[in-house]
Amino acid sequence: MSKRNIAILGSTGSIGTQALEVVEAFPDHFSITVLTMGRNADLLIEQALKFRPKVVVVCEELAYQKAKDALAGQGIEVLLGAEAMEEVVQRDDVDVVLTAIVGSAGLKPTVAAIKKGKDIALANKETLVVAGALINDLVKAHGVKLLPVDSEHSAIFQCLVGEEQNPIEKIYLTASGGPFRGMSREELAFVTKAQALKHPNWSMGAKITIDSASMMNKGLEVIEAKWLFDLNPEQIDVIVHPQSIVHSLVQFQDGSMKAQLGLPDMKLPIQYALTYPARFENDFKRFNFMDYPNLTFEKPDLTAFRNLQLAYDALRKGGNSPCVLNAANEVVVEAFLQEEISFLEMSDVIEETLCHVNWQEELELGDYLHFDAESRRVARSLIPRISKK
Ligand code: NAD
Ligand code: MG
Repeated sequence: MSKRNIAILGSTGSIGTQALEVVEAFPDHFSITVLTMGRNADLLIEQALKFRPKVVVVCEELAYQKAKDALAGQGIEVLLGAEAMEEVVQRDDVDVVLTAIVGSAGLKPTVAAIKKGKDIALANKETLVVAGALINDLVKAHGVKLLPVDSEHSAIFQCLVGEEQNPIEKIYLTASGGPFRGMSREELAFVTKAQALKHPNWSMGAKITIDSASMMNKGLEVIEAKWLFDLNPEQIDVIVHPQSIVHSLVQFQDGSMKAQLGLPDMKLPIQYALTYPARFENDFKRFNFMDYPNLTFEKPDLTAFRNLQLAYDALRKGGNSPCVLNAANEVVVEAFLQEEISFLEMSDVIEETLCHVNWQEELELGDYLHFDAESRRVARSLIPRISKK
């Protein structure tokens, strides 16, 4: 494999920092040309001095000033703002863009990168949820690779290698069930932010950790799977697997099932997205069957965890519904983290937002951005009415 130049969007986050560990382990194969992030200037400065990118982008003003001062004279350009993020992904010295920022903010830079022929290692699932049809059209038109980083989708992707001529009958996305697995609606009414932020198996950014607790993460992943693997909703099943060892499964038309297994560690799917189709030797901890005598599976509870049902409904309805669902979810997660609404009220606001925003079937980039903004506005306006806090 020739050496690949990587741009990481969101380098200071959970996925971003793990991606840099992967890059560091294979200096002959990867180099970093672009790093971007929100506001953690100290970490970005440290990363920039270590990985020597050509350019870094900081999206928050104060952090930008700090990074600019600290990196002066280092031969590293420092830029400010979301628009700069769209520009830097298009540079000639970028081969692959790892999208590890949070939320629909990932859409515009991803579109810009694909249009310039860059391969995408996609962690930012919200981009596909919001605009899967558009992204797939662009990926086809520009002949780029869209490589999943999300562990479940990486698992499916790995199971499909060598199966190009064989249609998928269905897939099973595994879900850990999060910290509130097994709870009733009555119990969920009183769970706190601190409890929701404690995921049993994974250490991740705040937004996806709340999404995992509310099962919206799995809902977003169902929609993500539709676009990555060209499936209809009936072909996508969710199965709760609390140990997070079986990362997902594919069932083919002869009934045979393939699964991908391993310890829960995002570095493996990140590495595979960067080395595909090769597998590079590494020293990640190996799975030991004796540590896991029981791998268990159960049905998800769609009555207690309504978000998963709402996501399936939005997928079936199509058009702008997944975009509206995602935007409303981003607003309620933020409100839950600010302790403005309760855990169950998150689903209420999302459901009402889906009722209030006009449905549209065909969308272009501008329409997605419009409905994203409009849905955020509607969701925010609903919070004071729905919240009993
Ligand atoms: P995180 O909050 O830990 O990190 C996010 C990074 O993006 C930070 O560097 C932050 O500064 C930057 N960022 C956030 N919003 C930004 C914006 N609007 N503009 C510019 N920069 C911004 O998040 P994470 O857990 O690493 O998740 C990143 C993405 O990967 C999400 O879409 C998430 O759903 C997905 N993902 C994460 C995991 C995981 O294990 N963390 C697993 C699967 C998928
Ligand atoms: Mg996942």
